[in-house]
Amino acid sequence: MKIITWDKKEKVEVKGKFERIPVIIDMQNDFVKKEFPVNGHKDNGKLVVAGAEEIIQKIANLIEQYRKQEVPIIYTTDWHPYFADEFKVWPIHCVIGTKGAEIIDELKPNGQDFVIQKNANAAFTNPNTLDLLKALNAKEFLVTGVATDYCIKNFAIDAAKNGFKVIVNLDMVKGVDLNKGDIDKAIAEMKAAGVELI
Ligand SMILES: [Zn+2]
Repeated sequence: MKIITWDKKEKVEVKGKFERIPVIIDMQNDFVKKEFPVNGHKDNGKLVVAGAEEIIQKIANLIEQYRKQEVPIIYTTDWHPYFADEFKVWPIHCVIGTKGAEIIDELKPNGQDFVIQKNANAAFTNPNTLDLLKALNAKEFLVTGVATDYCIKNFAIDAAKNGFKVIVNLDMVKGVDLNKGDIDKAIAEMKAAGVELI
């Protein structure tokens, strides 16, 4: 698997041509696993998205289907330094090098996949994300994972704004809905940005 770091510009050397590439957003221990070891810090594992465990099997099936066709999978991961700006607003989560930041065992990336690391909600804050998507040359990107009203929304809208065809499978995403209606609002925003929702 190829890790796409956020702190330096990388030369993305990949030549592809694919019909559809699945994108798995932030299916990491801290966001998905309710009963998670705390790694010595009380806040670790505390940003679980309700219902995230229900979409694991569906995403696993999707990954299997595309791997059979030798299509690479794109993953994104929150990948924060311990003193990330985001921790002024959110509990500490997905700290670099911790178990909580790892992609859950059920959905591990493999040899031909890409893992985009990010230190913010939006994967396009990683300066290499755009180049990677361009290089992969897919007709469309199918977005799954968490959370609908944050990282999914940002990825989908940013990708659509950059000219990519983006589909979000509502059966394979979960949102936070911190304020009731956030998920519906996010869906409306994605639609308005040209994202297809299935
Ligand atoms: Zn984060």
